Amino acid sequence: MDDLSIRGGQLIDGTGAPGREADVSVSAGRIVAIEPRSARPAHRVVDARGHVVAPGFIDIHTHSDFTLPINPRAESKIRQGVTLEVVGNCGFSVAPALPGRAAMLREYLASSAPWLPFSETTFADYVAAFPPTAVNVILQVGHNTLRLMTAEMESRALTAAELEMMNLTGDSTGLDMVTMPQAIREQVPTSNFFQRSGYERNPVAIRHNTVAKLLAVTDSRMDSNSNLPGAKEVAGAF
Ligand SMILES: [Zn+2]
Repeated sequence: MDDLSIRGGQLIDGTGAPGREADVSVSAGRIVAIEPRSARPAHRVVDARGHVVAPGFIDIHTHSDFTLPINPRAESKIRQGVTLEVVGNCGFSVAPALPGRAAMLREYLASSAPWLPFSETTFADYVAAFPPTAVNVILQVGHNTLRLMTAEMESRALTAAELEMMNLTGDSTGLDMVTMPQAIREQVPTSNFFQRSGYERNPVAIRHNTVAKLLAVTDSRMDSNSNLPGAKEVAGAF
């Protein structure tokens, strides 16, 4: 006996194949059968005739870190079929807030998220305290927030050391969206994976263009970068 059977819907399976009518059977949280007409018994049957049945959508660029804490149900996303949100984009994130800089971060993000409380926190503690939400969430560290933590609101070019401090926190900082001047790039020792010549032209991205391989390469570069002199001290702040 399956847990769930979704019957009669137009199945768009996410592979790029055309939609087709199919019944989807689910047991123990996994799809166990996809058939044109299912005769499998199920505890719960959903009549999906007239509806599309599809994998959850990934919303890769959102700012819902500003809203999910006050509305973890995220109805507006769920009703659109979104099941995973990637937040902390455009360089804005709610954490880390280093000692003495929480008020500055609150002021900086006030126009976007005046309702959010800001307090001193590492990024790891912020992630741990993020509430359970209806959607899955990938939380990125924002490079604007990192710059604020590094150089406050000073209007000046960052030094190579300051850029390096931001760079060491990883490839999900949004730095892939900016291009460093060549002169500074030569001084920054860590390899920002996306920075070298742009994501689309990066040879690793072209040659090994699967997510698993890209993640493996990124991870190994992050591992070796994190062992560079000074990296552990900086990483401790995040
Ligand atoms: Zn954005």
